[in-house]
Amino acid sequence: MAGLENVAAQLNADRPAVAIVGAGWAGLACAVECVARGVRPVVFEAAPQVGGRARAVELDGLALDNGQHILIGGYVDTLAMMRTVGANPDVLFDRLPLSLRFTDGFELRARSGSPWAQAVAFMTCPGLTWGDRLAAMRLMAAIRRAPPADETVTQMLARTRQTATNVRYLWAPLCIAALNTGLDDASARVFAQVLRDTLLGRAGASDVLLPRTDLGQLFPAPAAAWLTRQGGQVRVGERVRAITPHAEGFALDVAGATQVFAQVVVATSPHHVPALIGALPGTERIAAEITSLAYEQVTTVFADFGEGARLPQAMMGFADGVPHWIFDRGALGGPPGLMACVVSAADAARDDTERAVIDAVRRAFASLPEPRRVRTLTDRRATFRCTPGRTAIVQPADPRLALAGDYLLPLYPATLESAVRSGIAAARRLAG
Ligand SMILES: Cc1cc2nc3c(=O)[nH]c(=O)nc-3n(C[C@H](O)[C@H](O)[C@H](O)COP(=O)(O)OP(=O)(O)OC[C@H]3O[C@@H](n4cnc5c(N)ncnc54)[C@H](O)[C@@H]3O)c2cc1C
Repeated sequence: MAGLENVAAQLNADRPAVAIVGAGWAGLACAVECVARGVRPVVFEAAPQVGGRARAVELDGLALDNGQHILIGGYVDTLAMMRTVGANPDVLFDRLPLSLRFTDGFELRARSGSPWAQAVAFMTCPGLTWGDRLAAMRLMAAIRRAPPADETVTQMLARTRQTATNVRYLWAPLCIAALNTGLDDASARVFAQVLRDTLLGRAGASDVLLPRTDLGQLFPAPAAAWLTRQGGQVRVGERVRAITPHAEGFALDVAGATQVFAQVVVATSPHHVPALIGALPGTERIAAEITSLAYEQVTTVFADFGEGARLPQAMMGFADGVPHWIFDRGALGGPPGLMACVVSAADAARDDTERAVIDAVRRAFASLPEPRRVRTLTDRRATFRCTPGRTAIVQPADPRLALAGDYLLPLYPATLESAVRSGIAAARRLAG
């Protein structure tokens, strides 16, 4: 999408605009793609800031995130979107070959490069027996041959005779990180797709990208500024209360005033969609399918251990969970001593999460003092629960209406890349 800065002149205010409801990563990506197609986007965002579930928040004067995020090299569309709006991934991330280093000393290192280079790295990885290596290769060969049945990850691991070490240090951490769903519930098909795209994907696809800034600066803020420069609008603090049919398209009720648009993209989180599209003909089945989605939580405990506190590596895993991962934000350009500890899926629902996390971190790193400050953020609907048998949610029959959001790609979990891809697809659908 190089050269898009020149499109601004074409997006004159008299041209019909598309309304995009929601300025998460899906809605903003949709708006950027609309500009690329010469359509003027007007984005309505209920919250006071853009970014949705991947946004910056300010806590005690610190620019933090509503939850620690990581990206991977395989997020091709997200990285391209960032470049389009002037956010350079080369400076905004620490890019590392996939390395799973655990607080109990266990370490698995892949190598940045082709799947063959990764396979060699894996086969020579210390800490694994030949039985572990062969079992892992058996699983990778099986998913390369054919997608697994519509079963759980636990069933797939049993069928391919995985060892306890592989499950503990490889498949469980990767599954919880990618699908935010425990092995017993998670969809083997979606997990296999993630493994195909990363461990068996193109060179660099499994690299881990650790943000060196708050989430707002990665894409949402630059995207909003870029869209405004292009003649689009991003209207924060404006909740769309209802969408109803209108002779010229759709009437949007925004703060009691009606605004009419020829085309609309609903890019809210899935649980907000049924109420918004409920008055539109032919959307009952879609609304029912979205209503049937279940959700998983994510809790992030931000703990300030003081300036001298450092981890041996910027990202480390806890094989026994709670937390599942710890990130040294000081090593990633943030305040020295600040750690972000992530608890995913079912474990995030515990009442004693904050205390359990601090205790586990101090047990793992004995030199850390009691933290000076702790702030805990839980998103109760962080992602949909990625289980087998999930029905693909289809787009509405009316070609002037589109959905965008991280829940729309049947073979993928809820991620930033799913959100961005769905936003691009929605813009293309409206463009015909
Ligand atoms: C704590 C946490 C950790 C995560 N970790 C990762 C990770 O490491 N890697 C990864 O890839 N993904 C991760 N995810 C998932 C990722 O954040 C989401 O998949 C992605 O942000 C979803 O984007 P979206 O645009 O589809 O939806 P949302 O971000 O939910 O955006 C929807 C927007 O619509 C707005 N809205 C709702 N109703 C209205 C209305 N009526 N009018 C106007 N606006 C409205 C909302 O305010 C919101 O801004 C994580 C999520 C959470 C919560």
